[in-house]
Amino acid sequence: MRIAVFSAKKYERTILDKLNEKHGHDLVYFETPLEVGTAPLAMGFPVVSVFVNDSVDRNVLKQIATGGTKLVATRSTGFNHIDVEAAKELSIRIVRVTDYSPNSVAEFAVGLLLALNRKIPRAYNRTREGNFELDGLMGFDLVGRTVAVIGTGKIGTIFARIMAGFGCTVIGFDMYHSPEFERIGGRYVEAEGLEEADVISLHCPLTPQTHHIINARTLARMKRGALLINTSRGGLVDTEAAIDALKSGQLGGIAIDVYEQEAGLFFRDLSSTIIPDDVIQRLVSFPNVILTGHQAFFTREALETILNTTLVSISDFAAGRPLANEIDAS
Ligand code: NAD
Repeated sequence: MRIAVFSAKKYERTILDKLNEKHGHDLVYFETPLEVGTAPLAMGFPVVSVFVNDSVDRNVLKQIATGGTKLVATRSTGFNHIDVEAAKELSIRIVRVTDYSPNSVAEFAVGLLLALNRKIPRAYNRTREGNFELDGLMGFDLVGRTVAVIGTGKIGTIFARIMAGFGCTVIGFDMYHSPEFERIGGRYVEAEGLEEADVISLHCPLTPQTHHIINARTLARMKRGALLINTSRGGLVDTEAAIDALKSGQLGGIAIDVYEQEAGLFFRDLSSTIIPDDVIQRLVSFPNVILTGHQAFFTREALETILNTTLVSISDFAAGRPLANEIDAS
């Protein structure tokens, strides 16, 4: 199969080329994301592969359908960047990576929590400048604290298990109750129950229902000084409302690996340019904010699984076999 691989990074190409020896596809790499302006590059490719900040909306799908694309393979779990309905109408099938080391994201979320609570990045920067002062670095013990997990699926449940291991009380908010979450001692609560939490970690997908699930109203109802961790999708948090809550002290701190306007910013080196996004600039100016650039998934194990699953799906498609990771629009 001829595959147009968009948003292709060097670290992916090396692994993809190696894995592809078994599959024998014709891989053509494009560093640019797939979006309206770059969709003509996909002309003549039956398969297109994308990543989280590519914009696979109706317009783009129309263009690539005209160019002969029949399959879009996203190298991610989340698929909020793809208009699944439009794809169905245009007879383009979509596959994703349902399962890859959910540990990678859960472990990173724990890392963000520890870094935020114990102010490890600030301490690191201080000691490099010969400043060994502890003032401003005080955190709190996690043992005995209440940690809320919004979305107790694969990643949320692993995060919950690790936090239970820290001696935290773990509460969950999800319409589906996971027996595994309950087995590790997690207790389900309704939305009001989240007010008990010292820490809230987001692990649900971005959907119309979860868009801005953290907003001015929900922030006002949180325990004062609570910490918020988001390794899921930027659109779950109303960033302006979070900034207001940080300014008033209602929110004790926020650590985010994802940002609503991350497309166009993340996965590229902008260190020599002026970043025009005032919201992100404001965010990073707070001492109690940690921002990382969508790297929670980024372990060797996870990346290899993502790329291998993508190639297996494409080979299954080429051979007319059932697609285990297909997204069903119905
Ligand atoms: P999953 O499907 O196993 O779990 C998601 C859970 O969220 C499910 O239990 C579902 O019922 C729940 N949910 C859905 N709507 C909800 C709502 N309105 N309120 C509460 N819960 C709701 O998915 P997963 O593999 O655990 O991944 C979770 C998310 O993590 C993905 O959707 C993706 O956005 C994000 N993710 C981020 C990275 C990263 O690198 N930062 C990597 C992979 C995944």
